Amino acid sequence: MDTQERALATLDEDMLVQLTQDLVRIRTINPPGDEAKAATFVADWMKQNDMPAELVSHAEDGRASVVGGLDGQGERRAVLFSGHLDTVPAGDNWVHEVLAADIDDGKIWGLGTTDMKAGVAAMLMAMRAVKQSGAILKGNLLFAGTAGEEIESMGAQELVREQKLDDVGFMVIGEPTGNRVITAEKGVLWLELRAKGQTSHGSLPHLGVNAIAHMSRLLEALQAEEIPYETHPLLGDFTMNIATIEGGVKTNVVPDACRVTIDTRTVIGQDHQQILDTVRQLIDRLCAEDPTLHIEVRSINERIPLDIPFDDPYVQTFVRQRDLVTGDTSVPTAATFATDGSVFVPAYDAPMVICGPGLPEKAHQPNEYVEISRLVESARIYTLAALDLLT
Ligand SMILES: [Zn+2]
Repeated sequence: MDTQERALATLDEDMLVQLTQDLVRIRTINPPGDEAKAATFVADWMKQNDMPAELVSHAEDGRASVVGGLDGQGERRAVLFSGHLDTVPAGDNWVHEVLAADIDDGKIWGLGTTDMKAGVAAMLMAMRAVKQSGAILKGNLLFAGTAGEEIESMGAQELVREQKLDDVGFMVIGEPTGNRVITAEKGVLWLELRAKGQTSHGSLPHLGVNAIAHMSRLLEALQAEEIPYETHPLLGDFTMNIATIEGGVKTNVVPDACRVTIDTRTVIGQDHQQILDTVRQLIDRLCAEDPTLHIEVRSINERIPLDIPFDDPYVQTFVRQRDLVTGDTSVPTAATFATDGSVFVPAYDAPMVICGPGLPEKAHQPNEYVEISRLVESARIYTLAALDLLT
């Protein structure tokens, strides 16, 4: 038996399914997150399987990430397997119990199966398989289980800041792709607009300053504005969604405050600062027309867009193993969603692929599931890719 066969032989399907179920059953809904329980579980699991692991606590109570991995000989840069531990809130209309991780119809059902505890479980099992194969690794094989990805990648940012991951040369993000390889992702820029006015009695509106009316003028101007960008071959177009609005006290009071949040998704070549400047210029223009208008804008979440060259040697090695396991041929593909890659790629100046067993269309949806066959497939892909990249 060669190393690859030895590694694959240790990928026990029941153990992989059990690990996925165990992770799904730990509630990590973000907000508030509560990832510490899952991070502790993962750290314990890794240690039980002879892999060093470290819990990295974050400032907020109950929140932690986990890092660990296998030591290599230092001849190659490390390969990082990464997945987030948090999930979005469940929403309504679930048929299966949200956190029960029931098995039915060849699938594991539950919140966070597809996005992305299945990916985390498959990565951990792949690392265990590499370990048990006895392969001598030329570089470290690392795992990062991160907190807070669903909002601002708080965990990934802290792992970078605290230098918990050394010399990463390539990373695999196990977000749901149906085991396709994705090498590009859109950027994110969330804006918060705050208008300030002055209250007065609703019957005497001329004595007040209406913050909602001012906000609505800015929103109209913003929608009429052409934010410059070039359509990207994989990422497509820049998009903007006016997402939330709050304001007003009572029907008979002139509102003195209005808050709006806007979700923009950016493509390669766009400068986030320039988008902010454009909004500020619009505010200045409106303010010149009406000096009582007072609106401030700030960024509340930001991730850069990524487009990793498909012919990068690391990417090609991963693709070769993925195509061998699945029998398909990978083509350059983009994600519309953002991942922790937007934090790790610039931090380590290293390429990445996104590839995981979940289905992207099942993420952030009721009745989320992962197919067990794809789960097993992803663990095989990760195992063979790690061996190819590091031996
Ligand atoms: Zn995700």
